[in-house]
Amino acid sequence: MDLSMPVSPSFAIASRSRQASLVWGSRRVTVGGGAPVRVQSMTNTDTVDVIGTAIQVKELAMAGSEMVRLTVNTHEAAKAVPLIRDQLDRMGIDVPLIGDFHYNGHRLLTEIPECAQALSKYRINPGNVGKGDKHDRQFAVMIEAAIRWDKAIRIGVNWGSLDQELMANLMDQNSRRIHPWDVKSVMYEALISSAISSATQAVELGMNPDQIILSCKVSGVQDLVSVYRELSKRCDYALHLGLTEAGMGTKGAVASATALAILLQDGIGDTIRVSLTPQPGESRTQEVVIASEILQALELRSFVPSVTACPGCGRTTSTTFQELTQQIEMFLRTQMPQWRTKYPGVEHLKVAVMGCIVNGPGESKQADIGISLPGTGEAPAAPVFIDGEKCMTLRGDSIAQEFQVIVENYVEKRFGIPLGNRV
Ligand code: SF4
Repeated sequence: MDLSMPVSPSFAIASRSRQASLVWGSRRVTVGGGAPVRVQSMTNTDTVDVIGTAIQVKELAMAGSEMVRLTVNTHEAAKAVPLIRDQLDRMGIDVPLIGDFHYNGHRLLTEIPECAQALSKYRINPGNVGKGDKHDRQFAVMIEAAIRWDKAIRIGVNWGSLDQELMANLMDQNSRRIHPWDVKSVMYEALISSAISSATQAVELGMNPDQIILSCKVSGVQDLVSVYRELSKRCDYALHLGLTEAGMGTKGAVASATALAILLQDGIGDTIRVSLTPQPGESRTQEVVIASEILQALELRSFVPSVTACPGCGRTTSTTFQELTQQIEMFLRTQMPQWRTKYPGVEHLKVAVMGCIVNGPGESKQADIGISLPGTGEAPAAPVFIDGEKCMTLRGDSIAQEFQVIVENYVEKRFGIPLGNRV
């Protein structure tokens, strides 16, 4: 065995795409071209409901969404968009809005210019722009609006609404091959061709290629990996990554995380959305939480302090350990909206909550601040480690509350802006 070489650390490769900018007023969010991989989300309110939609956009933004997409499906919805933008500005919510257009985008963007102006990006689905000779004309109208108002666009192709004329054409070509491809390969080709040829068309109409973002969404993990690997080889546009119709709950979260992690690790993807169907009563913000966790797990971004917790086993004596882990996770997440500005860098904090002496002290020492709860047969004492050193032992029924205070004090001391530097 050769021990002369160290084991190389693994890391996600940086994307090398062009950079798009989503601008609103004097503010800007960049996508691609070395910018951090952005988290985005989509509302599920009726866009006509200005207050309800503004509140949901606010919730998504507070949870960490860096851009939010709205359905713009009717004249009423288009008229609501500038009102939502104004409402968000009044609430001090700094997030760009993206309009999701299908079928009638060409009309909405020209007939309601205030909508075209209030949005920072237009999502155009080439499969839903119009059929036959209308397709190119209506597509051109949307691109002209983007050029006129200086907006970014996403050419968002979707497996479920693929351009049927293009697909029929490719199937026809395929049937003339000596060795025809399987239908899936033709479908992959149709998705990629639709995105790239639409982008080429947009550039020919005068669109700045930097302002074009592409996506080719499918609902299967392996399909998504195949399509995006090829898409990223064929172009340098910024890419929006996401598994469409990922599903609900654990299934949706796991499928999205699996697909996105494979691609992001290879430097493919500049902005991500987790298209999760919310469980009844579940907050829409769950998709933002999962997207952020994917980026944080890959060490591409840091959004909230991380909590290392063991799974617990027969050595854990009570539910205290699970309760403490849950409480501390919740506490850190709810503090983040204020902590982000008050304690710069706090998102890099590492906390450990461990169930017993087996791995507890070791893992706690690796964290900035950690606690090792007593397991079966251990003395009822919970040592606390700060910056790798054991510094106190907690006992009794209020370990959770005391540990929370210790974390808060640590955050204030380490990340607090000194009084003299506050503005
Ligand atoms: S640290 Fe202790 S309680 Fe936690 S999983 Fe390991 S052995 Fe079990």
